[in-house]
Amino acid sequence: MPDLPLFDPPRLNDGLPALPPRLAERVTPLNDRPVAADGRYVLYWMRTAVRGHDNPALDAALALARALGLPAFVYHALDERYPYASDRHHTFILEGARDVAAELAARGIGYAFHLSRPGHRGPHLKTLAGAAACTVTEDMPTAPMRRWAEALAGAAPGPVLALDTACTLPMRLVGRAHDRAFAFRKATKEARALRLEEGWSDVAPPGPAFLPDLPFAPMDLASADIPALVAECEIDHGVGPVPHTPGGSRAGYARWADFRDTRLARYARRRNDALDRTAVSRMSAYLHYGQVSPFRLAREAMAKGGDGAEKVLDEMLVWRELAHVFCRFTPDPDSLDAIPDWARESLARAEFDRRDALASWETLARARTGEPLWDAAQLSLLRQGELHNNLRMTWGKEILAWTPDAATALDRLVDLNHRYALDGRDPNSYGGLLWCLGAFDRPFDPPKPVFGRVRARSAAVHARRLDPEAFRASVAAPAIVEAAGRAPPIAVIGAGIAGLAAARTLADHGYAVRVHDKGRGPGGRLSTRRGQDGTAFDHGAQYFTADDPRFARFVESWVDDGVAARWEAPVARLAAGRAEPAPPRRRFVGTPGMSAVIRHLAGDLDVAFGRRIGSVEAAPDGGWRLVAAADEGDGDEPAEQAEIVLVCTPAPQAGPLLAPAPELARAAGAASMAPCWAVMAWFGDAVALPGDPPPQAAFVEDSPLAWIARDSAKPGRPAGECWVLHATPAWSAEHLEETPEEIVPALLDAFADAVGGSLPPAVGARGHRWRHARVIGPAPGPDALFDPALGLGAAGDWCRGPRIEDAWLSGVALAGRVLGAIAGTAPVTERAHLSPRAVKPVDL
Ligand code: FAD
Repeated sequence: MPDLPLFDPPRLNDGLPALPPRLAERVTPLNDRPVAADGRYVLYWMRTAVRGHDNPALDAALALARALGLPAFVYHALDERYPYASDRHHTFILEGARDVAAELAARGIGYAFHLSRPGHRGPHLKTLAGAAACTVTEDMPTAPMRRWAEALAGAAPGPVLALDTACTLPMRLVGRAHDRAFAFRKATKEARALRLEEGWSDVAPPGPAFLPDLPFAPMDLASADIPALVAECEIDHGVGPVPHTPGGSRAGYARWADFRDTRLARYARRRNDALDRTAVSRMSAYLHYGQVSPFRLAREAMAKGGDGAEKVLDEMLVWRELAHVFCRFTPDPDSLDAIPDWARESLARAEFDRRDALASWETLARARTGEPLWDAAQLSLLRQGELHNNLRMTWGKEILAWTPDAATALDRLVDLNHRYALDGRDPNSYGGLLWCLGAFDRPFDPPKPVFGRVRARSAAVHARRLDPEAFRASVAAPAIVEAAGRAPPIAVIGAGIAGLAAARTLADHGYAVRVHDKGRGPGGRLSTRRGQDGTAFDHGAQYFTADDPRFARFVESWVDDGVAARWEAPVARLAAGRAEPAPPRRRFVGTPGMSAVIRHLAGDLDVAFGRRIGSVEAAPDGGWRLVAAADEGDGDEPAEQAEIVLVCTPAPQAGPLLAPAPELARAAGAASMAPCWAVMAWFGDAVALPGDPPPQAAFVEDSPLAWIARDSAKPGRPAGECWVLHATPAWSAEHLEETPEEIVPALLDAFADAVGGSLPPAVGARGHRWRHARVIGPAPGPDALFDPALGLGAAGDWCRGPRIEDAWLSGVALAGRVLGAIAGTAPVTERAHLSPRAVKPVDL
């Protein structure tokens, strides 16, 4: 007797025709509504089986449509709100959509794709499902896919059916999570073998290709400029595409065919050698997005036979499906509740054993822990979007040592894996990540420090059988090198926060980047001016906000690393000597000064200070020459060359540097920036501001001053009575060409008026003129400018808005444009392997 029911179809919603058994057994109805009587079509909401063949959800939609006498059509959409949405995942998904669009068109099946982005958002799924007799989608057990399908089921007027498109043996038939692979293997063997023998036949469409009236203009993916589209989306542009692994069925099958025919036979012997990237199939991203059929891969591996095929099949069928079933029947695989009780209890007891050296998210994400093999493993995720499975286990376990408790370790594991790995967010990810914390495993006694009874595995021990240097060398090059053989050198002009965000993102992807700045040291407009007398002033930017989660993630890390801190001082609005609290705001400052953030960012970059670039000129042999300004040095300095030049200076200084790209120069000219006179004053006695509690800073109204702040009250500053005063843009513009000697007394008088009386005598005061201080009108258009044909780009607050976080986001967006454009230069993948379907489509 088999351990599982060989066939157990669900009860379908009223009005739905019976489906053939091989489809029926894969169905989970997500609501109990009858077929919508006035429904005009059957909708297949495609998400995780992005292929036009071997696709049970597509087949069910086609079969139901035929039986109901209705047309069927496929709606496929890409939202910006899925967790860890980035250029990397978006590009892969869009490339996959391009292939499935072509495949479905060839099969005569209607398909429409929608990409959410500014100006192109709306409740389109709800609208389309609202007019459908019935909706079909995939049964994907991980968040947010499961949640989104359930939400649709609550809103749609007709049935919503989820079909298992990922497992050879449908998850629902297994019925419960298994915690050990050998038991799962045994329990499912016979039922799975039956299905593998049966093969798969695609269902023929019920009629000619059909599209309803769409609430959006469908996208022609064949001609779409994918990097440009990705740049428009509000997603994480700091994680770039992986050009050696383009998305889509064609690239997926090409890779599979190569592996199947040349390396499958030696897989059993070679698979654990992390130095040989060709030893493994590297199919997991294609499987994750359903761009290749797991059924077809399994059939073809079986047909090959041998011990390599046997091992691949065990991983593809047993381990992969074990993880799917586990996620399907585990309420929250993202929480520690998903690991066995013994592991959870033991890890909690081991918490006091952890290392003192906790690592911030940024330290981990940027592979900077100092543990050579772990850093090399993380580098592989960051740069190549993948990590050899054997090393991934060590990578996962080692994180326990840098986090305060197991729950944080799991959060970090999920974050780093899902963010960087192309196959992240898969049920299989949870299989691997939870294994690192004891799932699918047994306890090991006696308990060990950090790991407790969970199987211990450290990078240092792993390094005895895998040379960290050799592994690092094998993954360190930018991903374009594997795809196209070389990576272009890049120059950035301007080491403010925008330039450094761009440079660091590119350097983190492995590119050679050199930054040039005219200043004597790091700062830009986040400068800290220190006096010989021990005074220190943030005379430019005062504090930063972190409203955008893409920036907030880094700010949290900077706080953990001690280069920034929350500034919680009371801030007021001051008018005519009266104070009222300013609206509450989360504010952060660099510690011990604003420039600490810039120093931190510049820390591991190649930055040339004291180098003012006068012009960017076409080099005779291609690329660009960065010519130093005439007033710099003795003029003998040779001009530096780069293939890509990114101008990250304030807009008025960017214009002339962008002269070879007139459109970009025009955009810089369209931004407007206001000046600011700043005064740094220090007093022997306390300056009293009105208010209770007395504010430490204030926005001033009806005054030449816009802002005053007791700088020495910010976290980490030397004690004292140091004040920074900023004049309004209008006053600064009116007095722009005056001298500090004229400005300082005028603004000190305004300060006395603002605080409603007299000031203690100033011990000293200095003035500083910021000619281009604040953006008052950003250049219309995208967050960053880039001309891929010229290899010239620009970023800065003036591309986005007046704040530090705008400058950061603009710099990262520019890096994203560059990474996308470089990925677009990779040679097109061999397209010949999307072979004809094994079995002709059948009419049901
Ligand atoms: P910058 O910081 O200006 O960096 C540009 C860099 O380019 C500079 O380092 C410069 O030396 C270099 N450079 C320029 N020309 C050349 C050249 N030809 N060759 C080589 N290098 C060159 N924002 C907030 O969020 N909160 C605040 O409280 C706040 N207050 C502010 C107060 C003042 C007085 C000022 C001036 C700004 C304030 N801002 C504030 C704005 C904030 O500082 C900016 O938005 C942000 O720092 C801009 O960063 P960036 O990298 O675009 O430009």
